[in-house]
Amino acid sequence: MKRYGTLRQVSDDVVGCRLCPRLVDFREGVRVRRAFEGQEYWRRPVPGFGDPDAWLVIIGLAPAAHGGNRTGRVFTGDESGRFLMEALHEAGLANKPASVYRGDGLRLEGCYITAAVKCVPPDNKPTPEEFLACSGYLDAELRLLGNARAALALGQMAFRSYMDYVRRAGKDVRGVRFAHGASYRTDGLPVAYASYHPTPRNTYTKKLTKKMLVDLLHRIKAAHCSAIG
Ligand code: SF4
Repeated sequence: MKRYGTLRQVSDDVVGCRLCPRLVDFREGVRVRRAFEGQEYWRRPVPGFGDPDAWLVIIGLAPAAHGGNRTGRVFTGDESGRFLMEALHEAGLANKPASVYRGDGLRLEGCYITAAVKCVPPDNKPTPEEFLACSGYLDAELRLLGNARAALALGQMAFRSYMDYVRRAGKDVRGVRFAHGASYRTDGLPVAYASYHPTPRNTYTKKLTKKMLVDLLHRIKAAHCSAIG
């Protein structure tokens, strides 16, 4: 596996990556939604972004077809991003409550956001081979975020990806189960936290409310933010 020295190097490699033929075809072939006619879609892998000294890493599944795959920034330009950024802003982790386009002035404070798979997958379902192909980038980001004390995974598949990282680091993950608000501590690695994904399917049905996510962020912040002074 390639060893990276900086997050910038990871990001540069991610953006040029064509390792997964199915995902390359899909991301490049996404049809422009009527609401975005006239806009040029990004159609490339979407790297992580945020504070390089982050104490919290947030991990999603993959960019959305008309969100990250359109704007070039994960959790940007769609409903999931709007919900997440409002919560991060309320918890004091983002300078504004909206994530609309790259270059919109959004700044994450103490946190970094990335995805387990950097290309939009059909039906939001990457294959096990695609998870594995992209895992080197996630591993590199997590290794380079040396101040990270906590990792919040959004949704079951992102949580499994983080646990795969923990396993690749040689730790025991037996007995670990996904549940909103669950946390798992592993020596030497950021503490894992799980949340439901802020997809409209969960937020419109109130399976995940803003209060649930903000409360969880406050809990994580109380446990880890003051510890790094
Ligand atoms: Fe490359 Fe990851 Fe995209 Fe596959 S999913 S093409 S490994 S960036």
